[in-house]
Amino acid sequence: MKTIGLIGGMSWESTAEYYRLLNELTRDRLGGLHSSKCVLYSVDFAEIERLQTEGRWDEAGAILAEAAKALEAAGADLLLMCTNTMHKIADQVSAAVGRPLLHLADTTADAVHAKGLRRVGLLGTAFTMEQDFYRGRLASRGLDVLVPDAAGRRTVHRVIYEELCLGIVNEASRDSYASVIDDLVTAGAEGIILGCTEIELLIRPEDSPVPIFPTTRLHAEAAVTLALTPPH
Ligand code: GLU
Repeated sequence: MKTIGLIGGMSWESTAEYYRLLNELTRDRLGGLHSSKCVLYSVDFAEIERLQTEGRWDEAGAILAEAAKALEAAGADLLLMCTNTMHKIADQVSAAVGRPLLHLADTTADAVHAKGLRRVGLLGTAFTMEQDFYRGRLASRGLDVLVPDAAGRRTVHRVIYEELCLGIVNEASRDSYASVIDDLVTAGAEGIILGCTEIELLIRPEDSPVPIFPTTRLHAEAAVTLALTPPH
């Protein structure tokens, strides 16, 4: 089994999910007392969030590149960045190490294709919904990506930073998200990407009339598959 390196803490609420999922999926696939071989480097999210809002992405990237190097030195064979948003600096992280970084937009796009869908709604932070690093990567893999209108984007972004990243799961916010999802479906979305690793703490399949794509679970599944694939 390969060792999975996690760059986490963004936020730790979703990183805890990654840890649980990696272990459950490994146990389900191998049985018995099997669990995931993994190493976690967890950052202080307040520092990263400040750099995000100040647009100091290179500095945030440098912190995560150092984390990646530490994970490589600790024996990680493959790396996951446990946040969609910070894939904005995925190239900077990947260039710092000799191990593969499993890109969240790629594992997500693969899952959408596996369901035979093409037009998807994307929920995430404002960075993820409005900038090109994530949408463009999905589009380059053949997906047609819709995002909520400005008011919808503000709500989705606010709930992530003011509630979900603090472990607050609020019924009224679930209703707001459900109405944003309904609007995306009316606009033609055949599936909804939960493109922020905390959103699946709030939104369940029954909250959407079309299939949802929970990026944390999909990322963990792809990582376990890779970790359990024997070398050729
Ligand atoms: N976990 C989030 C994501 O998947 C948001 C937190 C962050 O800004 O990294 O985008």
